[in-house]
Order: sequence, then C-alpha cells, then structure tokens
Amino acid sequence: MAVDGNYDWIVVGSGVSGLSGALWASRHGLKTLLIEKASVVGGATAYSYGSLWVPNNLLEREAGIEDSEEDAITYMRYLSGGFADEAHLITYVREAPRAIEELLGWGVKLRLIEGVADHYFPIAPGSQKRGRMLEAVPMLRKQLPAEAPPLQQSPYMPEGISWTDAIRLGGLGNRFSWDQEKVKEASSYYAAGQGLVAALLRACLEDSVTIRVDMPATRLLVEQGRVVGVEAASAGEVRSKYGVFLATGGYESNRELVRAFQWFPETVSHYPPTQTGDGMVLAMEIGAAIRVIPVTLASMVGYWIPHTDGTKEFHSAGIQELAYPHSMVVNGEGRRFADESFFQAFTVKLREFDVLNKHRYKNIPCYLIFDAQFARRYPFAGNPPGAPVSAWVTRAGSWSELAKLLHIDGEQLERTVAAFNGEARAGRDPEFGRGATSWGRSVGDPRHPVNANVAPLEQPPFYGVELFPTESSSAGLHTDVSGRVLHVRGRVIEGLYAGGVVTARTAYGAGYQAGYSLASGIILARLAVRHAVGTTAFYPIR
Ligand SMILES: Cc1cc2nc3c(=O)[nH]c(=O)nc-3n(C[C@H](O)[C@H](O)[C@H](O)COP(=O)(O)OP(=O)(O)OC[C@H]3O[C@@H](n4cnc5c(N)ncnc54)[C@H](O)[C@@H]3O)c2cc1C
Repeated sequence: MAVDGNYDWIVVGSGVSGLSGALWASRHGLKTLLIEKASVVGGATAYSYGSLWVPNNLLEREAGIEDSEEDAITYMRYLSGGFADEAHLITYVREAPRAIEELLGWGVKLRLIEGVADHYFPIAPGSQKRGRMLEAVPMLRKQLPAEAPPLQQSPYMPEGISWTDAIRLGGLGNRFSWDQEKVKEASSYYAAGQGLVAALLRACLEDSVTIRVDMPATRLLVEQGRVVGVEAASAGEVRSKYGVFLATGGYESNRELVRAFQWFPETVSHYPPTQTGDGMVLAMEIGAAIRVIPVTLASMVGYWIPHTDGTKEFHSAGIQELAYPHSMVVNGEGRRFADESFFQAFTVKLREFDVLNKHRYKNIPCYLIFDAQFARRYPFAGNPPGAPVSAWVTRAGSWSELAKLLHIDGEQLERTVAAFNGEARAGRDPEFGRGATSWGRSVGDPRHPVNANVAPLEQPPFYGVELFPTESSSAGLHTDVSGRVLHVRGRVIEGLYAGGVVTARTAYGAGYQAGYSLASGIILARLAVRHAVGTTAFYPIR
C-alpha cells in the first residue's frame, strides 16, 4: 500500500516502543507514519507478559504504597551489576512515572499487578513488595477500530489472560488447573503484551497515526549528515521533517548478529522471526555505534518439540518445567550444576567454560530429567499433567539406560540422582539451594507439602530431553538519554532516534527485572519525540 506524501515523524516497528513513539509524536501534532515489516502489529511486545516496571508511579501512590526515586535508583544500581550508564539509569527512574502519567491522562488504561514484588530479586536493596509492576487493563477485542491491522498472536500467553488473571487463576505454572469457563470468557479480550499493543494501537488510530504493515524499512535517507527519511519496500522514499524513530526490536532471529554478539552462537530464538536486528543494520550502515552489555541475565533454556510433518517447535522451559519437583538438570558428565528453579542463577552457569578438558562450555549440552511422578503431576511440553509423555521424549526403566540413550556418563548420573534423592526426601538441596528463592517457589508447586521445588526422582520410567540456550539481544544502538543515536565517532547522528530493544540496555545493564524492557521502550519513545520537537527533555526533580 502506498503512503501519502511526506511526514513529520516516521516510526519503524510496531512494538511497544514504536507505538509509543508514534503516539507521542501525534500528540505533539506531528503528522506521523508507522511502518511495520510483518503483516501483523505488535512484534515481541505481543508475545510478552506485558508487565511494565515503573517505580514511584501514580497508581502506586493512589493505592497508598510508599516508594521513592532513591529506593528505585538503589535497586537498579544493584541489579545493573555495574554495566548501566548512570545517566540512563537515572533517566529511567525519573521519566518512567511521567511517561505513565501521560499515557493514563490520554486514556490508555493501565493498572497495578497486585501481589507481584520486584522480581526476580525481591530482597535486593531498594526493592518493593508491590506497586511497581503495571499492565494494560484487558481490552475487549471489539473496542479496536475495524480498520486496525491484525495483532501478533502470542505463543506464551493464553488469549485474553492478563498477568493479574494468571495470578487469580492459580499462577502461570498451574495453567492446566485454571477454571476453563474463565479462560473462555477472557478470550474476547486483548491482554498482557497483546493488551498493551491493543491499548497503544487504539490510541494511535484515534490520533490519526498512519500505520502500514508489510512495509519493511530498507534504508535510511541521509542528506548532509542528517537522517531525513526512510526507504521502505513498496513505498519507496518517504521523507520526514523531524526525524526517524527506529523501534525494530532485537536480533534474536538473525543468526549472523547472534554469532557476533551473544554468548551462545547457536542460541535458539524464542522471538518472532521478524526480529532480525534491522534497525541496528540500518543505523550501522550510516556509522551508528553499537554497545554490548556483556553480562545480561536475559537467557533461558528450552527444548525442541518435533511435529509429525517434519517441522519442530521450540518450547521455552525456563520458568516452569525446571522449577517443578521430581526433576533436575544435569550436564553431559551427569552432574547438576545450579539451582534449576531460579532460571537466572541457572542460565549464568551455562556460560562456564571448561578450559582444560572439553575446551567448550562445561554445561552444554545439558538435559532436563524427571520421573513418573513429575509426569503425573505437572504439565510438560504443552500437555496437561498426567497426559502420556510424548513418544519423542527419551525414556528408560533405569538411570543407566537413560544415560546411555542421552549420551550422559551413566555412573555419575546414578551417583548424582542418589545424592539428590537422599536430601530431597526431606525437601532439601544443600548443594545448590533449590527452593530457597521466593521467585523459584512462586513458580514451583505450591501444593507440594515439603518444598515447592524439590522432591526425589525415584519412580520409573525416567525421562530426559536435551535443553538448548535461548537469549535476548545483549547488543544494541548506543543512544543518548533522549534516544538520539550516537555515531561511532561519539557525535549524535542528527535526525535519527531509537527506542526499545534496538537500543543497548544502558539503563539497567546486567539487570533483569520483569518490566524493564517494555517500560524503557516507552520512556525513550517519549523523550525522543520531546527532543525532536524541541521540548526540554527533563523536568526538575520533584
Ligand atoms: C515470553 C516473553 C515474555 C516477556 N515478558 C516481558 C514482560 O512482562 N515485560 C517486559 O518488559 N518484557 C518482556 N519481554 C521482552 C519484551 O517482549 C521485548 O523486550 C519488547 O517487546 C521489545 O519491544 P520493542 O518495541 O523494542 O520491539 P518489538 O516489540 O519486538 O517490536 C519491533 C517491531 O519492529 C518490526 N520490524 C523489525 N524490522 C523492521 C523493519 N525493517 N521495518 C519495519 N518494521 C520492522 C518487527 O516486526 C516488530 O514488530 C518478554 C519476552 C518474551 C519472549
């Protein structure tokens, strides 16, 4: 579809950051075009759980919860592990509540996710037990205007179920025992990540933002060192007066960029196939600087589910299967290496390099193993508890036989299981403290009488699947605090702005707090527009 003449502001990408960048621009009176490469809108945002981490926010204050900038800064500094840029970190803390207040003022409906502490580190200095986690209020599907482009579906969240709903229904880990009537009722809503996309999309459409799908940006137009527009498939060259806002998300589905920037060269993407780092490439072509945050905790593991038609599907196992009792993860030597129930502690151990023996990652390959009790009690590979374990899952009547089939050291596996079971019968894991973190317990089995994460593996048949790492992008465009993209020479590239995951995680560094990613996309979108139209980017500190 063609686009109509020139614009004041062009946004590339329709996730949270792109939609926010378009909304703020049109609210400032700019004639705005948003182009999206896929035939659906929402990107990884629509895949997500939709939480926004916003310290010291209006809804928190209205609920009578005390919070402060100082506490939020302390918490973010702790989580950042020294990898955040102080100016970006402080900007996040100060600007996030303002951005949310403006959205609320424009009728974008958000609410507190009750019962959720800062996580995954609720005991970190400056953390809060409640109040900082927000989400979009679910929106009836019919409230989206008829001309709205279709939304990206999520393979992770059941349709219409918000984070709040998931808690009320018994938690994400127990989704097979949810009240199915309520699940059915919810399906007439957009919720979670899709709900956030729907809320922003509706506001954009009401504000006359032009949105085009199936329209990838292919090149940035530059005149006298300034970005003046984009070249887009089927539309040709489109010019913009105030600049271009890149919000193309990560590069998880681009093998070359993954090999260039990630810890695991063969990491599997758990993001949409359109996440190919286009914004990074477009900007690098004109000299943009890239920043890598070398330690990020945004990794998971998962396994491949083969289908009868020869295709296979990647199933992320990080949160659920790894946390349930009657299971453990071992490496090829047949040894455990981490607290499997707290996936951040677990995935960093995947980076341990065995210098002397293997000269490879020590704990890759690794295997999730479990017994018949696990199979009876917990969901696995998308099947409800008690369903027959699919035929593709390796199984055996003894540990030595299972080890042989999986190419694990059998004698060591037997020793590992025996040692684990000895303590697990009393609900203990002295070796790695499985079940000791509140996060791990919250995703385990709350009905288990002794430890929500620990129980012996002793009833055959025994099962095992190989686990593969999956990561989120740890490199991105280097911007200043107004989202202006920086050149490799350190200067600003005039007319080029970026927000969301296409930018480096300079606000939070190594930190991994649910809601950082989506909220930071909103914050930079707003600051970029304010900068482009000449509004002071900062308010005095309250
Ligand atoms: C299961 C899961 C749960 C998550 N839960 C949370 C959570 O609760 N809270 C949180 O903060 N984060 C969460 N995340 C992470 C979060 O989803 C992403 O970090 C976030 O959505 C990134 O937003 P974005 O706007 O930067 O990019 P995206 O939402 O990915 O949008 C980028 C868009 O740009 C488009 N695009 C790419 N190239 C081009 C091009 N050349 N031209 C035009 N368009 C292009 C893409 O198709 C895509 O639609 C979760 C992720 C997953 C996988």
